Amino acid sequence: MQKTKIIIIVIISLIIISYVIIAEYRLNILSKKIFSYEESIKSLNTITSLSKESFDNLYSTLSRVIDEESKKNKELQDKVMNLDKLAKSDPELLKKYSKVYFLNENYSPISTEKIPTDYILNTNIEYKLHANVLPFLTSMIDDARREGVEPLIVSAYRSFGTQADLKTQKRVTYGANTANRFVAEQGYSEHQLGTTVDLATKSMPSLSYRFDTTKEFEWLKNNAYKYGFVLSYPKGNSYYAYEPWHWRFIGIPLATQLHQDGIYFYNLDQKFIDQYLLTMFDK
Ligand SMILES: [Zn+2]
Repeated sequence: MQKTKIIIIVIISLIIISYVIIAEYRLNILSKKIFSYEESIKSLNTITSLSKESFDNLYSTLSRVIDEESKKNKELQDKVMNLDKLAKSDPELLKKYSKVYFLNENYSPISTEKIPTDYILNTNIEYKLHANVLPFLTSMIDDARREGVEPLIVSAYRSFGTQADLKTQKRVTYGANTANRFVAEQGYSEHQLGTTVDLATKSMPSLSYRFDTTKEFEWLKNNAYKYGFVLSYPKGNSYYAYEPWHWRFIGIPLATQLHQDGIYFYNLDQKFIDQYLLTMFDK
């Protein structure tokens, strides 16, 4: 009996031991498999991160190339646009005119437009202005009105013919010297350009030196540059007699520069002025 018991115990022990051995063997295989999976995952991660890195690099290179190309393209477009602007711009519009250098009698602005009567002092007369300058003039007068002053137009574009008639007429009325001083050479070409206006106001309707005592003149002196207009012949200028009513459009960028520096248009070098031709009608 005792013997049988021992045999059973031995058999059970053997079974248990063999189970343990088998289990360990399986565990070993399993852990080996897990290890190899882990390795695979690791290498997969490396591949993934590598390709992400490469993709990022490629993407940034491509973006850089695209950026550079579109920048070059933009520069080229700007150059073409500037050339186009320059080809279409009229160099006469920013020239300094004198008794020696004046506009050709055949010159006329590319396009003129009728000034709405709302901006004219004597509404029976029709006035025209360079079509590109008109919006600057009307917005200047609109803003002036909003601030309680009302400069109004008493003269604008004058063709060579009109100018010649006016000169003869004045000569008859006032005599040659006075006529020359008032209408003839002074501001002559600037009116023929179509970019220049003579301004007055209801309280002082004719061209008068005393226009500079009006609040309209004070307003223009402080604000006209914001609309691209400057006084061509200010007090004390060495070119011509003082004309507080005569305002010429030279564009906001140049007018602003002159206002900041306290310089007059006719005191500038022509080469310096010409740089502003391209931006003359910029707002
Ligand atoms: Zn004038």
